[in-house]
This record gives sequence, C-alpha cells and structure tokens, in this order.
Amino acid sequence: MEYLFDGVKEFNSTDFLEHKELFENLSKKQDPHTLFIGCSDSRIVPSLITNTLPGELFVIRNIANIVPFYRESSDFLATTSAIEYAVKILHVENILVCGHSNCGGCNALYANEEMFKEIPHTKRWLDLARPVKEKVEREPGIHHDLARREWMTEQLNIIEQMNHLLTYPYIWDKFIKKEINLLGWYYIIETGEIFNYVIEDKWFLKIE
Ligand SMILES: [Zn+2]
Repeated sequence: MEYLFDGVKEFNSTDFLEHKELFENLSKKQDPHTLFIGCSDSRIVPSLITNTLPGELFVIRNIANIVPFYRESSDFLATTSAIEYAVKILHVENILVCGHSNCGGCNALYANEEMFKEIPHTKRWLDLARPVKEKVEREPGIHHDLARREWMTEQLNIIEQMNHLLTYPYIWDKFIKKEINLLGWYYIIETGEIFNYVIEDKWFLKIE
C-alpha cells in the first residue's frame, strides 16, 4: 500500500512541478475537447495513448467500454449522467469509444454460468454487449478460431456502443448536424497500435 503514498510524493516533486502552470490554469474550470469512453482495464491509460494533458479528456470507464441505451430513469445512472454532462454542459467536440485487445469483459461474454455466480452485476452489465456475441457467433467456424473470435468481439463491441450513443436524442441531434464527432478506436496493448473505425467504410484503419 505504501507505494501509493510514495507515488503522491513523487508526483508532487516531479510531474506536478513540470506542469505547475497548467494546473494553475485548470484550477477554476475545465474545457475538455473529448469524452473518452474506455474500459476499466488497468492497462488502458487514456492520457498516455492520446498524448493528452490534464483538462483535455473527460473520461468514463467501465467494464468493456459500454454505453447503456438511452432511457429516462430515477435510478443512479453513472455512465448516462457523465455522458449527459460532457455533451450538454461541457460541449465536448468528440466522443471516443475506445476498446482494446485481450478485453476480459468482452471475453466474459463466452464464459459459463458458473463464472458469473459471484459477479451477478457484471453479468447483467455485459447484457449490453450481448448482441455483439450473437453477431460474432453467426460467423462460420468462429469457435475454432478463438483469436479471431476475440478481436472480432472487441471490435464489434466498439461499433455496438457507438450505435448506443446515437440512441441519446441530444447526441443524435448534434451528430446529424455535424456538431459532434463520434469515434471508435481499437487499441492493441502489446504493440501500442490504434485502429480507427471509419464509419463510411465500416472498417478499422490503423492510425499512422
Ligand atoms: Zn476491457
């Protein structure tokens, strides 16, 4: 545990000093250009892979970078309220759904019931990605090629969640008026490569 406290001391004496002026400028307001929706996976570091500074990304993270369908509810909706705030109050220019390789959440779609006994809320949450599994399973021979099944699930999940964003009336409105950009990225952990989903071509193209 002590390393967490050591980390703060290290931050205060190094990186914080380096960006002191930036933090001062950010002390009273934020003006992020992008809503980044990523997986909670510890290996995904949004500011690192986008080379952005504090103040640039408004970040939502959850298991498997999921966007719930738009609905009106009196429940406590974490992801939905953060999307609402980012779009309506912060007026972000971009919404980026970032999926990744070796995603445990996406893989769990294929897990057996036994595995979910201890994690009922995770199981329920993943229902929002279950249509992806159904699409993947329609591919001939997919269960004999687990690597292909994995990346296909992760990529289709990005597209699925981008589509869920469009169920939000205020996002749909901005999207058709070209007032907001929707992006889908697929990040490969071991190579650092990121593939950008080209909506017109329905294809992920490597950013280079
Ligand atoms: Zn993940």
